[in-house]
Amino acid sequence: MIEARIAQIVPCTEAEGPFQRMAIWFQGCPLRCAGCCNPEFLPFSGGELWSVQDLISLMLESQKKNQIEGISLLGGEPFAHAQAAVQIAQAAQKNHLGVMVYSGYTLEQLQARPEPEIHELLAAIDLLVDGPYDRTLPETERRWIGSQNQRVHFLTPRYDPADPCWRLRNTLEIRVRGNEISVNGFPAQQALGLWKRPKTLKSEKRPRE
Ligand code: SF4
Repeated sequence: MIEARIAQIVPCTEAEGPFQRMAIWFQGCPLRCAGCCNPEFLPFSGGELWSVQDLISLMLESQKKNQIEGISLLGGEPFAHAQAAVQIAQAAQKNHLGVMVYSGYTLEQLQARPEPEIHELLAAIDLLVDGPYDRTLPETERRWIGSQNQRVHFLTPRYDPADPCWRLRNTLEIRVRGNEISVNGFPAQQALGLWKRPKTLKSEKRPRE
């Protein structure tokens, strides 16, 4: 199995998509959206190298322990790590977990790409949030979405666009482990602005692509 460069992992969260999910942030994004919430996740260096098998094992452990409904792949840019992402997504679906992916590319841009792994990843996604984050168009109505230009594609019937969960308020999750604080969800950026940033702060801010 191949390795993946990973920026952050939250084994169980309700702030990165419907129901309880494991969220995996890839390290590295070729795009440069102004106002990107995760600038530390943009370089393709950094983060930690994980074997995909270990990521899958962690996912299955969280399924058993937390009864997660699915996984969310974020970034960074998951499609820039498609070879690893497709293996994780296929393993999730094989184990009856839903797959949600946030991408800074539009669906049409992805469909026009020649790489087979891009198409394999698209085929393994239930929910795709697409398009670059636009800080001039902040989203205030749709939960889990960063800017109004971004679209939610229900690529399989697994999730229901009419589910009221899409219109509930966004949530922010803060975890304290020892001397490390981690934050994920929306509006993480605003919340972080309220604190004096600890040296050990590890941000799990949602990229909102
Ligand atoms: S918002 Fe997402 S797609 Fe845009 S630069 Fe940041 S990580 Fe990349």
